[in-house]
Amino acid sequence: MTEAVQTSSSFTPRVFSGIQPSGDLHLGNYLGAMKRFVDMQETGIETVYCMVDMHAITVWQDPEKLRHATRELCAGFIAAGIDPAKSILFNQSQVPEHAQLAWIFNCVARMGWMQRMTQWKDKAGKNAQNASLGLFAYPALMAADILIYHATHVPVGEDQKQHLELTRDIATKFNHDYGVDFFPITEPVIEGAATRVMSFRDGSKKMSKSDPSDASRINMTDDADTIAKKIRKAKTDPEGLPSEAEGLEGRPEARNLVNIYAALADTSVDAVLKDVGGKQFSEFKPILSELAVEKLAPISGEMARLMQDTSEIDKILDHGAERARAIASPILKKTYEIVGMVGA
Ligand code: ATP
Ligand code: MG
Repeated sequence: MTEAVQTSSSFTPRVFSGIQPSGDLHLGNYLGAMKRFVDMQETGIETVYCMVDMHAITVWQDPEKLRHATRELCAGFIAAGIDPAKSILFNQSQVPEHAQLAWIFNCVARMGWMQRMTQWKDKAGKNAQNASLGLFAYPALMAADILIYHATHVPVGEDQKQHLELTRDIATKFNHDYGVDFFPITEPVIEGAATRVMSFRDGSKKMSKSDPSDASRINMTDDADTIAKKIRKAKTDPEGLPSEAEGLEGRPEARNLVNIYAALADTSVDAVLKDVGGKQFSEFKPILSELAVEKLAPISGEMARLMQDTSEIDKILDHGAERARAIASPILKKTYEIVGMVGA
């Protein structure tokens, strides 16, 4: 089986990405990640998408809520357009090779590299001594998620850029230390008008599942009234909208709403401003709400429908995990051989 594992620098293109079942999916996850996962699925490249439950538990998760969030995330993927027959769709903990490769990478990555990670600093905050060891090691597991598939491209939001750089550093060091050309140097794919959707309450913070304020984000499961209310209350400045992108300089809240509109409408910021330049937020916000509802309502409706039969979701995840393991298992075996583990 190992003969099938690629060991040269010409790797077949393969896309991998993951989302944590750490809370409600939000507009940032949709625009920065999921919507673009669907675009990649349609290019015909092999696509592998994962619910990363082992990342979610790096901070406390109530077990019942985690189970629910994992299934709802799977429903979200499918409702957004991921076809489990085309893409490999699965749950991380069902493919133990991720954790096994992560251990090897824990021994490749350096403490100094991990300490520089801004997500670690943001999430551990001032209370780093009390944060879990898993939260610190998170990026090594993420590198394993990607490299256990020899993935060449990873679509993510802007916030994950640094972790992707670390993944490249880990691959480079592994290849160098063992004198092999085994792991690809993966490319991050950070594209589109909404690679960093900001909180509706604070234009300097990204929209996040883990933000304690529900008003900071639009959840994929919010109804039309809630979406409209959250957009109406979103923090803005008193100026009207500019006619050109330069006019958004130094106005993070205004930029955020225009970026969201452009990403939802599949157009550019310049094209949006051509239409709405000169309008006040009191006029623009209802237009944005209407578009957000139009795009999100069918997805949340489909998610709710899929969640009525969780046994079907579990079947999809079981099947996805089997397909994922068929790729991951020989790559892990080859890694063990390279490292010198007996019996690999
Ligand atoms: P948490 O707060 O628990 O870390 P999260 O909202 O950051 O959750 P993740 O599961 O960590 O979501 O990230 C899933 C994907 O969504 C990643 O590709 C990430 O880059 C992207 N993403 C997350 N937040 C945003 C955002 N505000 N704008 C654009 N993309 C985002
Ligand atoms: Mg995150």
